[in-house]
Amino acid sequence: MKFVSVSLRTRFALGLGAVLLPFLVVVVVGQFYLLLRLTAPLEGIVRELTEEMEPVIRMQMLLLQATMPINRYLIHGDPDERRQFVQLRQRVERTFEEISSERFTLAEERALVGSARAEWAQAQRLGEQLLHLPDPVGNAAAARDMRRFDTHIERAMSALDEAHGQFHQVIERNLAQIRVSHTRALWAVFAAFAVTAAASLFTGVALARSVTNPVDTLRQGAARLAEGKLSHRVVIHRNDELGELAAAFNTMAGRLEADQAALKQLATHDGLTGLYNHHTFYVLLGDELARAQRFKRSLSLLLLDIDDFKRVNDTHGHLAGDAILKGLSELLGRQARAMDRVCRYGGEEIAVILPEADLDAAASFAERLRATVAAQPFDAGAPLRITVSIGVASWPAHANNAQALVAAADAAMYAAKRRGRNLVIRYEPALDQPATPGMNVDEKLRGSPLRKTP
Ligand code: GH3
Ligand code: MG
Ligand code: MG
Repeated sequence: MKFVSVSLRTRFALGLGAVLLPFLVVVVVGQFYLLLRLTAPLEGIVRELTEEMEPVIRMQMLLLQATMPINRYLIHGDPDERRQFVQLRQRVERTFEEISSERFTLAEERALVGSARAEWAQAQRLGEQLLHLPDPVGNAAAARDMRRFDTHIERAMSALDEAHGQFHQVIERNLAQIRVSHTRALWAVFAAFAVTAAASLFTGVALARSVTNPVDTLRQGAARLAEGKLSHRVVIHRNDELGELAAAFNTMAGRLEADQAALKQLATHDGLTGLYNHHTFYVLLGDELARAQRFKRSLSLLLLDIDDFKRVNDTHGHLAGDAILKGLSELLGRQARAMDRVCRYGGEEIAVILPEADLDAAASFAERLRATVAAQPFDAGAPLRITVSIGVASWPAHANNAQALVAAADAAMYAAKRRGRNLVIRYEPALDQPATPGMNVDEKLRGSPLRKTP
């Protein structure tokens, strides 16, 4: 189940609904069964009781009462008993009419009521005869007829009793039906509860997961960010509050990453030329030296200084000087290999770390650079030409650590300055010897190991 664009508020409301739904269903289903399956049959029983039983019982009472005036007539001979009998007879007739019309649904019941009525008809005839006897008191024939009368009444009563019994069977059947309905109702309510509880559980789990999963993703994302993995992004494709939170998280991470990259660039690179700065130069040189030592590979260093740069500034202004520094840095970046590291060592001094390059390879690269710089005018408002002096030193020939390698390249670069500039000079140990009084080191070395590379 997807809840991609459902708000958290709606989702929690749905969750609450899912919890309450099974109980609601139980109430509704329970009511349905109670009203339709249990109450209706019960009402039927009560209705039948009132419609069928009541007149039958009344009838039995009337039949018993009907014997009274005749009995009294035979004992006392009072003719007024005739009027009483007539009244009772009429009530009996009306009640028979009442029970015969549509009340009894079963054929057996109807037959029994019919036979009760037939017995009554015979009793009634006998009763009429008895009530019209001129000498009823002490009359033996009348006493016999009275017993026949009683027999017919008893038969009518027992026929009605049987109808009664039939009626009880109907009620029993109805009660059995109610018990079955009751069991079914219980099962139906239980099944409805089980089904809706399962659906609610499923919905509840889906709703909970739709919240906990993205929250977990966000938590893991925050942990990655805390570890410093600023490139980490969370993937939550949703249109709700959590989707917005994920988008905000990713924007925040993106800004942090960009800011960190900008700060790193500022901390490691020079603002004017974009080259690595002095601090980074020493870090890179240390790394490359360690690598060269570990793998026994060559490593060389160029130290390059712009010739008479002060005069460029003085003549054309510092902005022109800046433009030349930038142009030179771009040229060096283009000429260097991907593995080379071009760094701004100081003012107009640039160091180039050359991994995998021995002294000859480094010197020939330096010479190519020197010639290219000298041949190309730089755009500094007006085209300006400059030259550079480059000192070259290599590991392990000239030094066994970073400081010594820089010192060797520096000594070679200053030798190039002293020898007239626009030169590439390889380091020689003689460059470190103190100058003889009256003779500078270049004069001492003139025509000896120091040489301009071909
Ligand atoms: P040399 O041939 O002996 O190196 O002479 P130089 O004039 O280049 O040497 P010096 O050390 O006397 O002057 C270096 C000059 O470089 C001084 C400074 O004004 C200039 N410089 C250093 N950094 C910058 C910079 O960032 N921009 C500009 N425009 N000039 C700079
Ligand atoms: Mg200079
Ligand atoms: Mg300088």
